[in-house]
Amino acid sequence: MINLKDLTINELEDFFQQQGEKKFRAKQVFSWIYRGARSFEEMTDLSKGLRQALSQRAELDSLRILRVQKSGKDGTRKYLLGLADGNTIESVFMKYKYGNSICVSSQAGCRMGCRFCASGMDGLKRNLTPGEIADQILTIERDTGETINHVVVMGTGEPFDNYDNLLKFIRNIHEKEGLNISLRNITVSTCGLVPKIREFAEDMKQVNLAVSLHSADDGTRQSMMPINKSYPVDQLLAACRRYTEETGRRITFEYALVKGKNDTKEQIDLLAGKLKGMLCHVNLIPLNEVRESGLYGSNRKQALEIAAYLEARGIPATVRRELGADIDAACGQLRLGELEKF
Ligand code: SF4
Repeated sequence: MINLKDLTINELEDFFQQQGEKKFRAKQVFSWIYRGARSFEEMTDLSKGLRQALSQRAELDSLRILRVQKSGKDGTRKYLLGLADGNTIESVFMKYKYGNSICVSSQAGCRMGCRFCASGMDGLKRNLTPGEIADQILTIERDTGETINHVVVMGTGEPFDNYDNLLKFIRNIHEKEGLNISLRNITVSTCGLVPKIREFAEDMKQVNLAVSLHSADDGTRQSMMPINKSYPVDQLLAACRRYTEETGRRITFEYALVKGKNDTKEQIDLLAGKLKGMLCHVNLIPLNEVRESGLYGSNRKQALEIAAYLEARGIPATVRRELGADIDAACGQLRLGELEKF
């Protein structure tokens, strides 16, 4: 059975034509899906016969909410969601002054092995389909009754390791008949897959790109992020520079501060030197301790001092607001063993 949530409007048009139906059904069904319909029965402007025929030939698999953890401080909610095959993923809903944002997962597990991240400790289970990525938004909109207008692909998984499904997902939520989310309100975060950064600059010029850098020194970065072996810092930063030149968009560098490792003066000076003149912004993250990793975060005061130091060197820098700190909901650091903690 084909899951219609995974299809673009064009693919839905082909599907309906193959069924001997009119092409315009595609937009009707697409729009129902993105208004949150979970069954063909809810699509009341389709004839009963068509609804029955659809339920025999296609499905609209939806994620199941397994657990929700709500912050008592700021409205952040962390969801543990169940996929049809029994795998689980996590998504985080956050409230900002400018609107509601969601951090979605792009894979079940991850094979990039970053040391500070518990999400990938079990390796990659599988890629999420475009529908499963989008369904995180639909499920959480339905649960909260809120509209989500900003999307960050920074949960479990390396989005560029699931590139085609990522692009399809972005195109679908951007569709007028989909969620009509502006491309400028979407951010994709990568650990640094250089060839895909080049492709992304061509395919998705208006989408924001964030890169997990965490150190400008190869040895230090490699000790935290194995991907650095394939794409060392200079190669990564060259691709980032080209990205900013081709898209005219500012790139965000994520920098999780690890005590005594990448927060020293030498490390920050190296960072400032390598980013000099680039259209970029550094987002400093006081690392949430990940028990399994043996790494400890710098505190917020140190993070603010480093931000001020970078600013003085001409590199725009901020310290990430710790949304959902009381429920350990920092994107990209979703923890292993969540089931016990929920
Ligand atoms: S930080 Fe991101 S890329 Fe690295 S292991 Fe975790 S989920 Fe994968």
